[in-house]
Amino acid sequence: MLSKNVYAYQIGDSIYLNITNKCTNKCVFCIRQAKEGIAGYDLWLDKEPDLNELLLAVGDVSQYREVVFCGYGEPLIRADLVIETSRVLKKLGASVRIDTNGQADLIHGRDIASELAGSVDAVSISLNAPDALQYVSLCQPQMGEEAYGAMLKFAASCKKHIPKVTLSVVRLPGVDIKKCREIAVNLGAEFIIREYLDVFT
Ligand code: SF4
Repeated sequence: MLSKNVYAYQIGDSIYLNITNKCTNKCVFCIRQAKEGIAGYDLWLDKEPDLNELLLAVGDVSQYREVVFCGYGEPLIRADLVIETSRVLKKLGASVRIDTNGQADLIHGRDIASELAGSVDAVSISLNAPDALQYVSLCQPQMGEEAYGAMLKFAASCKKHIPKVTLSVVRLPGVDIKKCREIAVNLGAEFIIREYLDVFT
């Protein structure tokens, strides 16, 4: 059954945090264009949560293997809330992951990964293309080609500050998976391939 303003939802033994519907991309494969929600949850928000509302929605973190900042939207558009919440969750013993489009530094004009250091365990960054041209065509970033380089720079910064960094790519015709994997390897990041229609960050 669908309910409004779902700030946290459980899938398996992880809890996913839904803090904004805004995104700086408009990916052609975004699940938001094809489905109403995830696992029966309507993830469109009337109101974005503040720290207290988010912590209330999470509840007892010890019940979960991982807390994941995820979609429906780009969580690091609300970087300050992610930083603040992660610090609290880490003190409570949580393992914290962020799924992101990697444009946080470009959006905010500062080194966000350094502010996540010590409270975030893992970051998964959507690479999605081996070059800026294809990235623009698939992800349609508001900030144009600059977004691709900024995303790679953010990934490199994450490698300095966050224990586990993964680059992901959606399996689509025409996307050179081998080249994408090489980019991840050269950055020292892990690499995963995601299936189409299973993607929203
Ligand atoms: S897939 Fe992720 S980055 Fe792309 S538009 Fe959807 S929420 Fe934004």
